[in-house]
Formats: sequence, C-alpha cells, structure tokens
Amino acid sequence: MKNKDYSFSKLHAEAFTCIQCGYCRRVCPVYQKIGRESATPRNKVYQLQNLLSSYPPFANIPPEFAERFWQCTHCRRCVDVCPAHMDLMNLWQGVKHQLAKRGAVPKQIMATKQRIKEHGNIFANPNEVRSYWALSLPGYPEVLRPQDPEIAVFVGCVASFYPLLVTIPLAFAQIMLKLGIKAYFLGADEYCCGHPLITAGEVAVSREVARKNLAKIRELGLEKLVFLCPSCLSSWHEDYPVYNQGELGITLVHYTEYLADLVREGRLQFAPYPHRTTYHDPCDLGRHLGIYDPPRRILQSIPELEFVELANNRADSLCCGGGASLHMIDQELALGIRHARLEQIKASGVETVVTACGECRQVLTFGLQDVKSAIRVLDIAELAAELVVN
Ligand code: SF4
Ligand code: SF4
Repeated sequence: MKNKDYSFSKLHAEAFTCIQCGYCRRVCPVYQKIGRESATPRNKVYQLQNLLSSYPPFANIPPEFAERFWQCTHCRRCVDVCPAHMDLMNLWQGVKHQLAKRGAVPKQIMATKQRIKEHGNIFANPNEVRSYWALSLPGYPEVLRPQDPEIAVFVGCVASFYPLLVTIPLAFAQIMLKLGIKAYFLGADEYCCGHPLITAGEVAVSREVARKNLAKIRELGLEKLVFLCPSCLSSWHEDYPVYNQGELGITLVHYTEYLADLVREGRLQFAPYPHRTTYHDPCDLGRHLGIYDPPRRILQSIPELEFVELANNRADSLCCGGGASLHMIDQELALGIRHARLEQIKASGVETVVTACGECRQVLTFGLQDVKSAIRVLDIAELAAELVVN
C-alpha cells in the first residue's frame, strides 16, 4: 500500500531529491511531442523547487507551469528511469492537487468531477443504465446477477457506456456464459472508480466514490473482483487501500489474469486464428500494475496465431496518448502522442493489434482509421469471445 501525501513537506522532500540528470527527458511522451524544455519532467521539478522555495509556496503560479502538469498522461515512464527513485506519480498528483486548490485546473476536469459527483459516472448518464451493453444477452438482466457467483465483475465507465467499447463487457459475459462460470456484474451498483479524479490529485470526490464502491462489494459479500478496465483496477489496487486505511480483504484481478488462469487450467480453449498479431501494453496495466505476461499467455495459447512484439514493449511500451483525460484537455497533443505508437504498429506488419484497455482500444481504432490502415484493432476479451471453443 502506497502512502498518498500531497503536503508541502512531502512535495519539498521529493522535489529536492532530484539530481537534474535528465534521464526522464528522453522517455517523456509529452516532451517528445512538444520539444520544449518546460515540458520535461526534469524542468517541471526544477520549477516546482522554485515554487516551493517562495513564501507562501505556490504564491505565483506561472501559467505555463500549470499547463505542463495537466498535460502529463500519467504514463509512468519517468518513474522507471529515475535513478533517484523519486515517487514521481505522487509528486505529479500532489502538484495537481495544489494547483486545483488554487483554481489552476482545466474546466474539463472540473466538469468531469461534477458529472461523477452528480451521476456516478464520467458521462452524466443515468447510472441505472450501466448494464445496457448487455441488452442483447439472452436472459438479460437476470443473467448478470446469478445466485452464488464465482466472481464479481467491475466494468468501468468507459466500456459501460461508450458505444465503440460496449463490446468488451459483452464479450467477457459471453465467455463466462459459454464456460458456465457464474459472474455477477455490478451494473447500476457500480460507481466511477474515481481514476480521472485520482490522477488529477482530487481527493474528496474520489474518496467518496471509493467508499460507495467498497460498501457495495462488502454488502454483497463478494470476495473476488475481476476488472475489465486497468485504470479501475489501478485505483482499487493503489488508492482504495489508502482511503480504507488498510488492505481491502478482496482479491482484485484484471480480466486477462483471470482468463490466463482459465487457459492454464484447460477450461478456456480457442479456435485457430492464423493471423500475424501484436499486443499493445496499456500504461495502467503494464507500468502501473506490472501485468505483462497474462495477456501474452492468452495470445500464445491461440492456435496458429503468429505473435510479434512491437519495437517498444512491456515496461518500455509507448503511451497511446489516452491517459489522464489528456484527449479532453489537449486533444492535439493526445493525437500527436499516439502517432509514434501507430507508426510502430504499422511497421510491425501485423494484421491485428490487440490491447487490454478500453481507452487504448479506442485511441488505436480511431488512429488506424485516420491513417486508412486495414489493421484490425481488438480488445483481448473480444478476440477471446470470437474464438472460444469450449
Ligand atoms: S508520467 Fe509520462 S507524461 Fe507524465 S511526466 Fe512522466 S513520462 Fe511524462
Ligand atoms: S530522472 Fe529523476 S532525478 Fe533525473 S531529472 Fe528526472 S526526475 Fe530528476
């Protein structure tokens, strides 16, 4: 369990650990795109040292300083290369927390916060229709709430509501039904996990949705929670224990871990897929949660699938530009960041690219469409549902 500390003393201690080596400069996708020193993690820390050294701290916030912090995609690449082992994610969130307290926050983040507060989801949809992705499932809605379930499923806002992505929970539900596994979908009892607010350093509302989600899981007595969205899992894994002031006592897994276990046990088998295929590691699943092998194990168990790695993979994977709501704050930058990843996918000569995050799935789909590529983009759940033979 990581401690979240956004106090001046913690930010001060962390910021002055920086040795200004610049290793983070090389890997930051925002700097790579913008090309200005002010966009490097190193320079952000340097500017922060100045702000913390003034009295009172954060008295005069240069507009460019605030802008650079809100452009961070939360990709975590800087953390992995920092020789001073700085807790940079806490630092970035802590600075945003201080900026938000002083009103230096993009209106899009404020609007998201309001939608989550009032509606329980990022789209301001009625939360009661969270399971409408399953309308076509035989036996809906009872089929989503079986007696004595083996697992509970947390879908997340994006795949619950976004039309392009509702095929992800649908695919996972179809696999569970085909294998005879009783899976309980939280549906209307699920609230936004709070991730868009957590990355913005916004504590109060994210703590409130965490409390509601935890209370519901405890009320239902569910012990194993399977996540379809890596960002939701990351919030539950890294932030909910902090809010809870202790471990949750619930087993939390990403659905690729769950499916990989079913493959290992021989419960999940696939028809052949004779296509050259690659995998894009989502930042939240990979660098944040360290889940690299389960998606690959699933793909490598598919007969005749020719698996190839992208030039940057696993911990060295490139960000797709979809993290930390950047597409809402600065769409041009988000589109610019995705470009490098699309070029790698095209260069790999694949027919299919799969990923395991709704946000990445959406970014790659639109990106490859925009460049008129015929490469098929799928979430692993979608590919698995298409090929399952049990
Ligand atoms: S998390 Fe990613 S985008 Fe943010 S500063 Fe670090 S490398 Fe740059
Ligand atoms: S890699 Fe770490 S120590 Fe080096 S400049 Fe970046 S933040 Fe500072």
